[in-house]
Amino acid sequence: MLYDRHGRLVLCNRQFLDIYRLPPELGKRGTSFRKILEARVAGNTHVGDAADYYVADRLSAVREGRTLGDIHRLNSGQVISMTHQPMPDGGWISTHKDVTELHNMQAELTHLAYHDALTGLPNRTLFYRRLGTALAEAGSAAVLCLDLDGFKAINDTLGHAAGDTLLRQFAARLGRCLGPGDTAARMGGDEFVVLHRAGTAQSARELAARICEAADTPYDLDGQVVTVALGIGIAVAGADGNEPDELLHHADVALYAAKREGRGNIRSFAPELNRASTDRRRMEADLRRALEFGEFELHFQPILDLRMHAFSGFEALLRWQHPERGLVSPADFIPVAEDTGLIVPIGDWVIREALAEAARWPAGLRIAVNVSSVQLVRGGLVTTIMQALAASGIAHDRVEIEITESVFLTNSEQNLDTLRQLRALGVRIALDDFGTGYSALGYLLAFPFDKIKIDGTFVHALPSAEGAKTIVAAVADIGARLAMSTTAEGIETPEQLRGVHAAGYTEAQGYLISRPMPREALQRLLTDAFDTMPEAPLEQRAAG
Ligand code: C2E
Ligand code: MG
Ligand code: MG
Repeated sequence: MLYDRHGRLVLCNRQFLDIYRLPPELGKRGTSFRKILEARVAGNTHVGDAADYYVADRLSAVREGRTLGDIHRLNSGQVISMTHQPMPDGGWISTHKDVTELHNMQAELTHLAYHDALTGLPNRTLFYRRLGTALAEAGSAAVLCLDLDGFKAINDTLGHAAGDTLLRQFAARLGRCLGPGDTAARMGGDEFVVLHRAGTAQSARELAARICEAADTPYDLDGQVVTVALGIGIAVAGADGNEPDELLHHADVALYAAKREGRGNIRSFAPELNRASTDRRRMEADLRRALEFGEFELHFQPILDLRMHAFSGFEALLRWQHPERGLVSPADFIPVAEDTGLIVPIGDWVIREALAEAARWPAGLRIAVNVSSVQLVRGGLVTTIMQALAASGIAHDRVEIEITESVFLTNSEQNLDTLRQLRALGVRIALDDFGTGYSALGYLLAFPFDKIKIDGTFVHALPSAEGAKTIVAAVADIGARLAMSTTAEGIETPEQLRGVHAAGYTEAQGYLISRPMPREALQRLLTDAFDTMPEAPLEQRAAG
């Protein structure tokens, strides 16, 4: 629009009248600025200052030669960009531009910059900003770091689409657990964090418990039903740090501890955890090099056949000869190897090495190899075993794979399928550490195991504890009825050996019979015990 120095319309285009839904006659030459404004007020298309003030303000700006401009949103939702440009003759040009689309696009871009596209949750940038504000304003806040146990396995085996669906479903559940003022964000991958504004240690733990519970029900990924457990680490402002980075780091350290302690755990930060996490990171780095530098070796523990009164075979147990720390227990490094996926190459090495070693033994002796559920989930296990069988040339039924109940916790269908494939090769499958962890008798029906190994903790309680005695006897009975061999692990005393023998176990294993031994000792044992046997490879080794 063009106004003259008296504030009367000289020129006005249609679009102006359309934007403010004004009747055409108002667009005629001579209409006063005030009249147009009054029509807009009446039509509810004026926002901001009262009409009198508005008119006075614009006119004085024109007199002073000031250019004005602003952007306002009408009640209709339209966003209008407006300018007043004074003219030398005392009139002015006023432009009104509908910028709704541009404005919304900008809002969307801003949203995109601060949110995760997959889940719609705030992203790292927005999380940091809100955490910073929370700490500056209230000084009280708690940070929760979350990790979906088994997510990588699901992503690897069911595909990225299923992985994405899982993350979206989890994000939705997470959102429903939050209180007012809380923020959940996705930092990337399966890493989620929560900013808890109420911020006491107690309320943070309650929130964590709610989240764990919500995460616990199975997820339906387009027909594939999976369960994942959630680990949560908590750091509280004040006690555990005052800077955003420090709080996040400490919550992450606590998360590591939670994961170490098992599935579905919640852990609050404590200073001593810092050390554990450094140790763990160091171990991770060391493990990566261990294979390359040949720091692993296998020890072998005999398994005694209680009916034949002879060794039926040996279990391969992994040993890590660390250059500085000495011998590291598998109980310490296997969980780290599992978390990092290093268990796959390490496990492959164990299988090749164990089968190659067994090829040198008399043909009646079996080799038992422990396999982690991560190896099953990651795939490739069947191929590795087939290759090792071919390379070593040993009879397939001499190989026994020991798995634990954890293989039933995630992707059990797919894991069962892998077990069936191994079984089809003629390899035997044993259920290790039976009675600990997540024992469900249903597992015994889910797969026809060749063997159950009852965990040493039950055996150790013999012969005094009545309860343990009953369980030990019952497991032997179940095995007999299901036509599975039964091994009692951890036999340390003659009474325990007598006890499991009387209970009907078919095999026994433990320090009383023999500790796990390095291969040289095993080879000596075999040459002594079997020196009458005409086994060519053994003779060669004895001679060499
Ligand atoms: P596991 O398969 O149940 O192995 C039995 C564990 O009990 C071994 O511990 C063995 O040394 C120990 N043991 C044997 N007899 C006795 C006894 O009379 N008393 C006591 N107190 N302990 C006894 P180790 O070698 O430290 O291995 C611990 C666990 O680490 C194994 O439990 C197995 O789950 C895992 N592991 C070992 N080697 C491998 C491997 O190559 N791959 C995988 N994935 N896991 C392995
Ligand atoms: Mg075992
Ligand atoms: Mg065991």
